[in-house]
Amino acid sequence: MPDLFDQFFDALWQMPLAGVVAWSVLENVVILVVVLLMGEFLVRRYGDHRVTEAPEPLSMTEVWLAASCVLLNAVVTVAGVLLWQAGIIRVRFEVTVFQVLLDTFILFFAMDLAMYVFHRVAHYPLLFPLIHRTHHRFENPRPLTLFVLNPFETLGFGVLWLLLLVIYPAAWQSIIIYLTLNIVFGLVGHLGVEPMPNRWIRLPMSRYVSTSAFHAEHHFDKDHNYGFYTLIWDRLFRTLSPDYVSDFQAARDGVRIPDTVRKP
Ligand SMILES: [Zn+2]
Ligand SMILES: [Zn+2]
Repeated sequence: MPDLFDQFFDALWQMPLAGVVAWSVLENVVILVVVLLMGEFLVRRYGDHRVTEAPEPLSMTEVWLAASCVLLNAVVTVAGVLLWQAGIIRVRFEVTVFQVLLDTFILFFAMDLAMYVFHRVAHYPLLFPLIHRTHHRFENPRPLTLFVLNPFETLGFGVLWLLLLVIYPAAWQSIIIYLTLNIVFGLVGHLGVEPMPNRWIRLPMSRYVSTSAFHAEHHFDKDHNYGFYTLIWDRLFRTLSPDYVSDFQAARDGVRIPDTVRKP
């Protein structure tokens, strides 16, 4: 298996631009399809635990925004590969298991913090209409909503990610693990149903790991829950919704968040 990855990275290292573009578009389209298939499965499986109203019928605006997001993510991927080929992004190849764990930890928490800050900045009244209002037009999410972003927002997240890779040379395994986790958390946040069991909220780790109800709450209460993967930064900067635990439980009991949230 490692040989296969070695061959893949060797090929990517020498790949001409046209090949990099084709590969990046393909990769991002495959991610979209996997997210939609997994999302559809989870929405059906946990349909009795809706956290929001069912979404409105799919509009062409959502389709076009999602298509532009996938293409822009491909542009970010192309930029990443070109920066790597140019030696500006460095990737560790000969690494220990400890290094992989350490790099995964660093990528995960650095991006979680950077995205928390970016998200809070995007909610400043001057910037909100330019960057982030588009995403908040779709408050009853479906898995596709993960990709329904203003192009500036997509590029903003992409630039944060590339900057981190320029600053920190991570193990290739960690990059793949992080990108997978990023997709999983993004999908969970936009399911519109809560797959975690009732007992989740009583576990100590539920204080730190985000859920579908956590991000759904943000869609209805824009003053709280700016985090993506963890609740750490919301706890630290006092932006965690005081209703989070009761909203999680209500969602599990089939009471949807729009009915429980006091704020507009
Ligand atoms: Zn927001
Ligand atoms: Zn969202």
